[in-house]
Amino acid sequence: MSRSAVWHPFTQHAIEPAPPMIARTEGAYVETQDGKRLLDAISSWWVITHGHRHPRIQEAIRHTTETLDQVIFAGLSHEPAERLASALVEMAPAGLDWVFYSDSGSTSVEVALKMALGFHRHNGAPRSRIVVMEHGYHGDTIGTMSVGARGVFNVAYEPLLFQVDTIPFPAASQEQETLDAFERLARDRGVAALIVEPLVLGAGGMKMYPASVLAELKRIAESSGTLLIADEVMTGWGRCGTLFACEQAGVAPDILCTSKGLTGGSLPLAATLATDAIFRAHYSSDRARTFFHSSSYTANPIACAAALANVEIWNDEPVAERVAALARMQAERVARFDGDPRFENIRTTGTIAALDLRVGSAGYLAEVGPALRSFFLERGLLMRPLGNVLYVLPPYCVTSGELDRLYNAIDEAAGLAGDER
Ligand SMILES: *Cc1c(COP(=O)(O)O)cnc(C)c1O
Repeated sequence: MSRSAVWHPFTQHAIEPAPPMIARTEGAYVETQDGKRLLDAISSWWVITHGHRHPRIQEAIRHTTETLDQVIFAGLSHEPAERLASALVEMAPAGLDWVFYSDSGSTSVEVALKMALGFHRHNGAPRSRIVVMEHGYHGDTIGTMSVGARGVFNVAYEPLLFQVDTIPFPAASQEQETLDAFERLARDRGVAALIVEPLVLGAGGMKMYPASVLAELKRIAESSGTLLIADEVMTGWGRCGTLFACEQAGVAPDILCTSKGLTGGSLPLAATLATDAIFRAHYSSDRARTFFHSSSYTANPIACAAALANVEIWNDEPVAERVAALARMQAERVARFDGDPRFENIRTTGTIAALDLRVGSAGYLAEVGPALRSFFLERGLLMRPLGNVLYVLPPYCVTSGELDRLYNAIDEAAGLAGDER
């Protein structure tokens, strides 16, 4: 084969080997062209929920392609989008009555930010400050990088990023500092919105914080007229143990972003859910108040049908039980590293388990990262450590035996960091 023309995401082509070619996917596995099966321990970048190619989702996709392809979504509508919107409103935290479609997690966040500013402006009291949480990640567009953590990923684009106010990550026993910081900002600055990943900060290193903090943040937001944007792009669809992570805090955000697991991970689709108050702020005989956002593939009918099949799976199959069982299995397995000097910060939330390998140089660019990745690959395990942070975020069909294999490999992999320690 001639040289590949593909420029891969988050890939340093000068250092990294050519990636394996995947020819087939099924359940918890992706299979290479030459027949090697890799256990997808990261749900293909956190999107796959039930497993690859769930039959009902595949069938919905096939069936819908018989009658529909892409249809412009301004001035026209279609049944898959209508039915999915009703289902989402029903399943989401109370009060999120409107569904705005887009096609990726990043765009769902861009939409959320625009809605928040539109809300304040159209209500006659413009606000534009956004408060974000330290170590947050909300996407890779200029807008979503602006509300995310600054670092090696975006230092080159810094001049284009807008200013935000950052509250500290609510690390154990420092939760009050987070709340105090937000309270001060909300009081002094006239903040448009607080955007957070509920319970787990994914790309920031699978950092976890308690639901009580989220509940308090919501309380402060509410009392200061600040909108709460819950970025559930990664945390939704059971990943944190409940359908949406916000549920665990008993919190209904003003805006909720969902993508990744929305279609079970089968096709790109996103939705930004908003309260009626936010919709009303844009509802007017004045055309200037229209919500000006679109993307060409908004509410793609095939993707909506895949998402509807996902919703049906949630309603008809014991998904909540599967998620609970996986959460238990994960907690049991990661517990073997409690008190192990090679690791620290052993943690789980729902189906996600994470632990930090003790190394000399931590962070995403930790030398150990790529070495770990190839170590796991050689053993048929698809892992993608965030620097020295090892995490297991598998599809819900993963078995107890497969997890054992994975955790045995993690145990062995810790040896790799030996010389750095
Ligand atoms: C992945 C992710 C995004 C971005 O989603 P894309 O589909 O990659 O644009 C946004 N927010 C969070 C919390 C994510 O994990």
